[in-house]
Amino acid sequence: MRIKGSHYVDLEIHRRFDSRKTVFCRQGIFEGFDHFQPETDDPGDTELLGLAEARASWTLHDNYPGAFRETSIGKRPLVLNRKPFQFRFSDPIAATDNIIEVAKRFGASLAGITELETRWLYSNDRTGAPVTLPDEARWVIVLAVEMDRDSIATSPSFRAAAASGKGYSDSAALAGAVGEYLRLLGCYARSCGNDTALSIPLAIDAGMGVLGRNGLLLTPEFGPGIRLCKVITDLELASTHSEYPTTEDVCSGCTLCAEACEADALSTAEKPTWEVLTESNNPGVIRWQFNPEKCFDFWLKIGRDCSNCISACPAAGRLQKMISEKK
Ligand code: SF4
Ligand code: SF4
Repeated sequence: MRIKGSHYVDLEIHRRFDSRKTVFCRQGIFEGFDHFQPETDDPGDTELLGLAEARASWTLHDNYPGAFRETSIGKRPLVLNRKPFQFRFSDPIAATDNIIEVAKRFGASLAGITELETRWLYSNDRTGAPVTLPDEARWVIVLAVEMDRDSIATSPSFRAAAASGKGYSDSAALAGAVGEYLRLLGCYARSCGNDTALSIPLAIDAGMGVLGRNGLLLTPEFGPGIRLCKVITDLELASTHSEYPTTEDVCSGCTLCAEACEADALSTAEKPTWEVLTESNNPGVIRWQFNPEKCFDFWLKIGRDCSNCISACPAAGRLQKMISEKK
């Protein structure tokens, strides 16, 4: 059943996904896991420069306490002698326009709005705690930051890994600032990275793109060359949803990402499927098969993350053409 945009979901099978099933939360299944540990062998000076750049790129993401939270971090009142207040926008469209403008000034390359479809919330967080939100938190501001294309094109280098890490750090700054802006206006706002809910389905609902064979959001502006974050709020907003081509329309007949994958983690099948490959995939959604265990195992082998399936993807131009031909 197609529920919205390019999602095809079997409502009988699909359940909220437990984030403890993601490959990052099951690192114990990989023998000798040492991805984020100091290297045991001296990589040599050239590699050391790249390794330092890749590690440093995560600095803000890993250390900024204002990034992913639902409470304010500053103790200063917004206006002296004024009690906490709730700012009233004239209507949801005015609120949406304002939030998107502010998000772009804070560094968003793309921003979209969707009403929260609760099926995309994780059932449990990484610690096992159930994911819950206030009932009124019904709106999601989905944000994307573009990664440096020239660096991603060098994947699987340390330079490309640094572009990815910087994308996460930029996302932390962005989600933190947009969330804080809403909280200062008197709203509930939960700033999220990859936590709390699945970002890609929410981005699809917000009209930002389509799910690709490579398991990533394909956008007309940047293809898959972005990092996503989001802010969940009780401020009533207006959806930016628009219909996109389906994943099959975009990716059938193209296997460039799968061919570029050195881990053999992506499918070259003609059509997407309901079948899942591993525990890391949530059943009940049509998609191209993806083996996250093979992907992550490759990252461990090379000692950094990989963006081959991003750099190989021509979806930006393809989507732009499809959308303009539809008009
Ligand atoms: S990130 Fe690299 S290893 Fe993982 S699926 Fe993409 S190309 Fe394959
Ligand atoms: S490389 Fe081709 S098949 Fe893979 S995600 Fe991009 S457009 Fe789709």
